Amino acid sequence: MDVDFRTYLKNYPSRDGRFGRFGGAYLPEQLVPAMKEITEAYMTICHSSQFINELRRIRREFQGRPTPVYHCERLSRMIGNCQIYLKREDLNHTGAHKLNHCMGEGLLAKFMGKKRIIAETGAGQHGVALATAAAFFGLKCSIYMGEVDIAKQQPNVARMKVLGAEVVPVKEGLRTLKEAVDAAFRDYLENYKDTIYCIGSALGPHPFPMMVRDFQMVVGAEAREQFQEMTGFLPDVVTASVGGGSNSIGMFLPFLNDPVEIVGIEPLGRGTKLGDHAASMTYGSEGVMHGFNSIMLKDEQGGPAPVYSVASGLDYPSVGPEHAFLRECGRVNYDVASDEEAVDAFFKLSRYEGIIPALESSHALAYAMRRARQMGTGSILVNLSGRGDKDLDFVIQNYGYGEKYKDFRF
Ligand SMILES: *Cc1c(COP(=O)(O)O)cnc(C)c1O
Repeated sequence: MDVDFRTYLKNYPSRDGRFGRFGGAYLPEQLVPAMKEITEAYMTICHSSQFINELRRIRREFQGRPTPVYHCERLSRMIGNCQIYLKREDLNHTGAHKLNHCMGEGLLAKFMGKKRIIAETGAGQHGVALATAAAFFGLKCSIYMGEVDIAKQQPNVARMKVLGAEVVPVKEGLRTLKEAVDAAFRDYLENYKDTIYCIGSALGPHPFPMMVRDFQMVVGAEAREQFQEMTGFLPDVVTASVGGGSNSIGMFLPFLNDPVEIVGIEPLGRGTKLGDHAASMTYGSEGVMHGFNSIMLKDEQGGPAPVYSVASGLDYPSVGPEHAFLRECGRVNYDVASDEEAVDAFFKLSRYEGIIPALESSHALAYAMRRARQMGTGSILVNLSGRGDKDLDFVIQNYGYGEKYKDFRF
């Protein structure tokens, strides 16, 4: 496919929310006006100087942006001569990139005169980021969460409640993420006049893949400038972990028109068997789910397949539509990292650099370490999407304290 990346942002998505044949909005009739209202408001408001200036102020004063780019000298030296750099989204307020789009969505709700924001959450990371935005903007907030997840994710449930959000337990079906999505959609259908549904990644029906991408692009835009200022060059490879695809799309787009190789990393989990991983781009096929057309992992009936990853933020059976498109254009490649590789990267970054990464981000880091070994020279820029405090209990229980990682000196 012939795509001009100099004018890419002007042309994609199309007016009806398409990235080539991916994306779109497959909605129940009643939600069509609600999505139209959000799209029209966003397309107007996102160009207003009040909105842009307010978002800039929030990023600087509340979120602590810009987050730095950091050169991992010790980790790089341990592998060879290829240099690994990190974009430190773990230092963004609340410890991950998700706040970037939640603050954007909250500000949009405020400009649209809405009183309430809602969402579903699985592991609770999106819920905490949205509850933070709601507290900041003085909006009501309801987070739908399966009862099983509530029991598993007590610290995040506590955070949401302390931040003033209502956590609504979902008691239907398997009582996890899928049922929580359905419950949140039912709420939205009834309440869209004063409520906005805030999606947690660059997916869902138009305009969400576009809005979330636009709000996350601050990551790549900052990183590109910072890297150039530090080194005088651009990196040879840019990489990020891909769950729904928000931290990666935000990192990648500012490099689309550069001579830079771009690679998204999906979770291979325990292996290649369906149910053991969540590598939708690598093993999936085209289909519609949750309101958009993309590449997804299907079960025998053609519905969303069960997925698994050690990183709960990556276990989603589809992927944002723009990723499907960028691969089809041949501009972005996708590869995988397993649980085992991710945990190895988790310990190495902790031990050799003093940074405990989120297990999600550890997938991209694992790939960077593998590539650095192969490349021998050059540089790789990794989006370190979040910090790993949330994963510590789990890692210690299952993998110990990393005793096998001997001290490394040079
Ligand atoms: C949620 C999450 C991800 C995965 O989501 P994307 O939308 O693919 O970015 C990655 N890293 C961290 C730290 C997360 O919390």
